[in-house]
Amino acid sequence: MNINTTIAARKIRLIMKLRRSGITDTAVLSAIERVPREFFVPEAFIDQAYEDIALPIGRGQTISQPMVVAAMTQALDLNKKHKILEIGTGSGYQATILSKLCRRVYSIERHRPLLRVAEERFRELRIYNITTKTADGMQGWIEQKPFDRIIITAAAAEPPTILLEQMSVGGIMIAPIGKQKDAQHIYKITRTEDGYDYECLMPVRFVPLLPKVAPHHIETTKENGNILDSNEEICTKEPCFI
Ligand code: SAH
Repeated sequence: MNINTTIAARKIRLIMKLRRSGITDTAVLSAIERVPREFFVPEAFIDQAYEDIALPIGRGQTISQPMVVAAMTQALDLNKKHKILEIGTGSGYQATILSKLCRRVYSIERHRPLLRVAEERFRELRIYNITTKTADGMQGWIEQKPFDRIIITAAAAEPPTILLEQMSVGGIMIAPIGKQKDAQHIYKITRTEDGYDYECLMPVRFVPLLPKVAPHHIETTKENGNILDSNEEICTKEPCFI
């Protein structure tokens, strides 16, 4: 079998697994089928791109497990009119899935070198509805509020209040919440006229949501086969606050 046949077969196996595990939203399944996950993992892990596992992407961070990406995306209940804020761009994979299902994605990452690689991927895949910046996502993106949806892809002890306030009434936030790594759950938080409704969806393990932009003075390193250097400015379509 050549590499493309192998990837196609692995992808079908993964989609079938997601279906069996309760992912019924055909738009979500179709987005997962169309986005090449192998494009978002370091070369050394391409063989495992369609395994249902999280993989390292450098800077101690991970691209989430496909089942978790699928479940969180399904829970967002997206439509083509939605504007969504993602905290934790990482590899750019989750943002790319979201870009297929809503109008515009705003995505914030605290590691500038990771974001640069993700932005390059968006360009190569010709995805034009993702806007990014390097910043502390806990502060949200005040110039673009309110958001119809917010997804946080790193775990916090509690959902950041600033982010809850940047969501419109009727809006949904999907976020891993929990103090310890072995006690995190995905929550669906819906903003109502007079407050917020919380629903606990599933247990997960995420890397932590950390404050401030990551320091980048000595960041010319080789990680997972990728050269990550941070001496150039990132250029995004929107102003970036570094
Ligand atoms: N959505 C990503 C998964 C990223 S892992 C993907 O599809 O690959 C979580 C990411 O959140 C990491 O890249 C980490 O650097 C980032 N992160 C953690 N705290 C953050 C913060 N306060 N603001 C922005 N990004 C943050």
